[in-house]
Amino acid sequence: MQGRIHSLESFGTVDGPGTRFVVFVQGCPMRCAYCHNPDTWDMNGGTLMEPAEIIEQYERNQAFYQNGGGLTVTGGEPLMQTDFLIDLFTLAKENHIHTCIDTSGIAFNPGNPALMEKMDRLMGLTDLVMLDIKHIDPEKHRDLTGQPNVNILKFAAYLNEKGVDMWIRHVVVPGITDDDKYLFDLGYFIGQFHNLKALDVLPYHTMGEKKYQSLGMDYKLKGVPPMDKTLLLEKKQVILDGIRKRRSEQNPQ
Ligand code: SF4
Repeated sequence: MQGRIHSLESFGTVDGPGTRFVVFVQGCPMRCAYCHNPDTWDMNGGTLMEPAEIIEQYERNQAFYQNGGGLTVTGGEPLMQTDFLIDLFTLAKENHIHTCIDTSGIAFNPGNPALMEKMDRLMGLTDLVMLDIKHIDPEKHRDLTGQPNVNILKFAAYLNEKGVDMWIRHVVVPGITDDDKYLFDLGYFIGQFHNLKALDVLPYHTMGEKKYQSLGMDYKLKGVPPMDKTLLLEKKQVILDGIRKRRSEQNPQ
């Protein structure tokens, strides 16, 4: 099955362990106010590519990925293209390539048996999921992204059940996702999962704004300052406190 691809990057350093070959897929149903890639939203844009073409390009640069790296699919929203991902990761596994999906989880739907059958197959081929939880509060999540978070949170529980390693990513935006109550709640939620392997807390920056201007689109976060990086460790600590609280409740001394 062909994939609808936005772009490829042969030397990704922030998209999973080691150096990665990164596939940016086209199409996303979320509308995150801070999205840096609004040009990936259109479900009908991009270029159609065969999985074999992508693996061929990976193999050409494979010396880069010997440091514990591999292949990451990001977007856009990768899980909108599960059939393509199954074919791509089947080939990747035949070639002993470490596979990672960077996703918002929005396409997960436990009420759809046909999709779940595909999801089970895909997760059997996936070494790591980087799950971006944009906001733990349902209403605030909807305000920030235009979509509910209920199935996103269920996706985290599903990954835990399946034993798929999970990294959680969270972008801290001043005045929008930096409230300690919600950061603690996020930590408390993810603290229950044994498949949680890492937590990436990322500072909001305004570099995406120019892209909106060039596309003639409104930038919803106009005037919101970049996140002060010196405060970021404190914010991460609040999430870690939530994780610790949940774990201490699960495993009382
Ligand atoms: S999920 Fe990712 S690609 Fe989609 S709108 Fe949000 S940040 Fe952009």
